Amino acid sequence: MADPRGFLKHPQRQDRPSRPVPVRIMDFHEVYERQEKGVVQTQASRCMDCGIPFCHTGCPLGNLIPDWNDLIWRDQWEEASRRLHMTNNFPEFTGRICPAPCETSCVLGINQPAVTIKQSEVSIADEALERGYVEPVLPQRLTGKTVAVVGSGPAGLAAAQQLTRAGHTVAVYERDDRLGGLLRYGIPDFKMEKHLVDFRIEQMQAEGTRFYPSTEIGADISWDSLRESYDAVIVATGAMVPRDLPVPGRGLGGIHFAMEYLVQSNKAVAGDEVPEQIHAKDKHVVILGGGDTGADCIGTAHRHGAKSVTTLAIGKELPRERPETEPWPMDPRVFEVSSAHEEGGEVKWLASTVEFLGDENGNVRALKVAETQYNEDGSRTPKPGTEREIPADLVFLALGFTGAEQETLTGQLDVQFTKRGAVDRGMDYQTNVEGVFTVGDAGRGASLVVWAIAEGRAAAAKVDEYLEGSTRLPAPVKPT
Ligand code: FAD
Repeated sequence: MADPRGFLKHPQRQDRPSRPVPVRIMDFHEVYERQEKGVVQTQASRCMDCGIPFCHTGCPLGNLIPDWNDLIWRDQWEEASRRLHMTNNFPEFTGRICPAPCETSCVLGINQPAVTIKQSEVSIADEALERGYVEPVLPQRLTGKTVAVVGSGPAGLAAAQQLTRAGHTVAVYERDDRLGGLLRYGIPDFKMEKHLVDFRIEQMQAEGTRFYPSTEIGADISWDSLRESYDAVIVATGAMVPRDLPVPGRGLGGIHFAMEYLVQSNKAVAGDEVPEQIHAKDKHVVILGGGDTGADCIGTAHRHGAKSVTTLAIGKELPRERPETEPWPMDPRVFEVSSAHEEGGEVKWLASTVEFLGDENGNVRALKVAETQYNEDGSRTPKPGTEREIPADLVFLALGFTGAEQETLTGQLDVQFTKRGAVDRGMDYQTNVEGVFTVGDAGRGASLVVWAIAEGRAAAAKVDEYLEGSTRLPAPVKPT
């Protein structure tokens, strides 16, 4: 596997370079730049012949990581691309925005910085796009069976691509005007530029997948009539219901769900006119929530020219490195520092918002915040007597998502949901309604792109089996 002595010769890890902060916050182009090919090869050569490559299982897609590190080192990019695409439909997405659970599973990571697996992935993906290795893969036969996929996020796209290639006639319905789900209107361009999504849509169209944007199932077409028209339906609608903060003052002007802000910004970056766009220019911005969504608001607000950007996190600050007492790989999200956090702003930990305070015009002017206290039962509450004010004229709620939208799915098709707000499903990804499957955030709860793609592939295998009686499609993960 790669250079057997590579990790001894090159103990230093070298990641993708990023554009300098003062330059990159002037635009919405990607923060990270292409790594030099020679550096990628040297870094790939650090992949050890470690016997049991835990990175395989750390990656929900089961990516063949040591294989492609070896091929990179040998300068065999076309074969590396072939091997990468065997397990991942969209490596240019995950190579850019995955928190890389593979790297926290890397055996080298026990004693040295882990192999730069994400850099290897994005480098293969970019070389493949540039050199034209990625072409439409046409089905070898048509089955005559039809599948409707509702939602064009990474889960829906992966399922649709697998099923189209297996010979089924697949239609993807999307209520947004553009395709891609959160890849399009959630994740900002500075993390992933949208021409990459456009490329994959074009590839899928050439393979035979049909797309119907601006079509909401449940409104434009009912769920039950969709079920009647297709042999199988896949619900890939995401987990878009945002968690609210019903404290006094919530109704004041200037308080928005993070996704309202991000969607509008993404549309503006795409060149759309956005009337009365929520804009952070010259504003004191406060973001509630310290996850991916909050980080994307930080980066967007800086690019909009905010006067200040403050993140309030209800919990404690997390370690940024694996503690010495912890020998096992940890959830990569624990360590993740988004590029946006390097661009400025302040994070206040253990801060619980108890009230929004308004001005005479009904707009927010400050937040009343108390210290978080941890109770014996594990709950967290504001500590009385510790309240203070934090000035704000724009507030974004990035407090996570409570699940998938239920109303029309339940009303029109009687699909059941779990107590956690996800579409209920069995081990075959099928809901309680025969022939209706669910995949990605809709069935799992808000998660990651890599899980969405992995589930899309696995659910496609189950749908193929349902339609044909057997399948040869891979199923990398089981539903949880
Ligand atoms: P989605 O991407 O949510 O797509 C669902 C689609 O279904 C949407 O386009 C929606 O419009 C459509 N839809 C819904 N209802 C209907 C209907 N009735 N009819 C037609 N269409 C419908 N993950 C990472 O791995 N890395 C990151 O850096 C990262 N950053 C994130 C940043 C933000 C702001 C957010 C919100 C999430 C982020 N995530 C990230 C999570 C990741 O984006 C999701 O886990 C992933 O997109 C889920 O894919 P999906 O296909 O299940 O759903």
